[in-house]
Amino acid sequence: MLVLISNVGSTSLKFKLYDMPSEHVLCDAKIERIGSLNGIYHYKNDENDKEHNEHDIPLKDYQSGINLFIKDLCDKELGVIQDVNEIEAIGFKTVISKGFNGTVELNEEVMKGMKDYLFIAPVHNAAYIGAIEEFKTILGSIPMIGVFETSFHRTIPLKNKLYPIPYEWYEKYGIAKNGYHGASFTYIANKARKDGDYKYIIGCHLGGSSSICAIKDGKSYDSSFGFSLQTGLPHMNRSGDCDPYIALFLENEGLSKEEIIEGLAHKGGLQGMSGYNDFREIEAAAIKGEQRAKLAIDVFVNDIVRYIGSFYAEMGGFDKLVFTGGIGENSKLVRSGVAKALECFGIKIDENKNNNISVDGYISSDDSKVKIQVIAANEELGIAIETYNYINSKKNA
Ligand code: AMP
Repeated sequence: MLVLISNVGSTSLKFKLYDMPSEHVLCDAKIERIGSLNGIYHYKNDENDKEHNEHDIPLKDYQSGINLFIKDLCDKELGVIQDVNEIEAIGFKTVISKGFNGTVELNEEVMKGMKDYLFIAPVHNAAYIGAIEEFKTILGSIPMIGVFETSFHRTIPLKNKLYPIPYEWYEKYGIAKNGYHGASFTYIANKARKDGDYKYIIGCHLGGSSSICAIKDGKSYDSSFGFSLQTGLPHMNRSGDCDPYIALFLENEGLSKEEIIEGLAHKGGLQGMSGYNDFREIEAAAIKGEQRAKLAIDVFVNDIVRYIGSFYAEMGGFDKLVFTGGIGENSKLVRSGVAKALECFGIKIDENKNNNISVDGYISSDDSKVKIQVIAANEELGIAIETYNYINSKKNA
């Protein structure tokens, strides 16, 4: 079954065409700087290694990007199919929709639910709604499936997700911990348990958005992400956990709601603390001795450690620590800082392995009580598996 996965960013689109259930990738593409005159396009046919790369192309909107990809997908030389209708489903990573969870068909009600929750996930939901509507215009005959980022966290027990607020807010408005990064942790839970029976895993997805997930018996037991995407660890430009009274205090000081949201959701996080919005730049500045950059890394590492310690205690065990995401996979500094702070738990990092790892592998020393593994994020495969299972179960119903 051919399943196309599209990963939507606010100015980018990534595609992967999978033959399922073999998980074989037929082609992949990446389109960047959508909405600009200097778009970047990369397409690769993974069967014959033929590529199409372009720079500085005008990309008015998502539609221009989708059309560019479809043309190559069905091209005689570059393509892997003859007609788009050979694709049985298109799977999307989706964030949150009022009243829906899990893996669902993106019908009008689900899209409306996403619009209703624009406030909770302003950046993500706006991009997804825009892109999916354009997909529907061009490829309306193919079922479009949403794999919600909250769905992996359905298993979090109520005692770990209920906020200490009036109970009727939970009942009436559904205010409780949602957890996000579900596609990434679905993949991590699967992959991390392939080489052993690990009962207690703590996953650290560290990137533009960051979160920690306690995975007990392969299922989500807790997440650092709360109700909205503004919670948990400091993100690249979103604050993460913050006393809610800070917003009320600033309002009293005369800041408008828009200014407060701008600070917390767009100019906060690692960028707010350091002044840089790319972790590589923050590391480089810290190495040069810039105090704010050093401090931002210290706060980030300390928050990661705090979540890991509390999730360890909450689960009652700890067998494996996993790093994934752009920062988790690449920053030796963060991995080393986190592991060293956890030495009191008998966790030991092998610095040689940590410095030299390039792809998936272990970085713990042989006598470490907890294994430390780095796993390259593969959200697309997580979404492809969910989409394939959904279509299959519908066929067999
Ligand atoms: P993601 O959202 O998972 O794509 O991660 C993006 C983040 O990963 C960016 O802030 C990058 O700066 C960071 N990143 C990518 N490569 C490296 C690297 N070699 N060292 C440190 N951070 C990196």
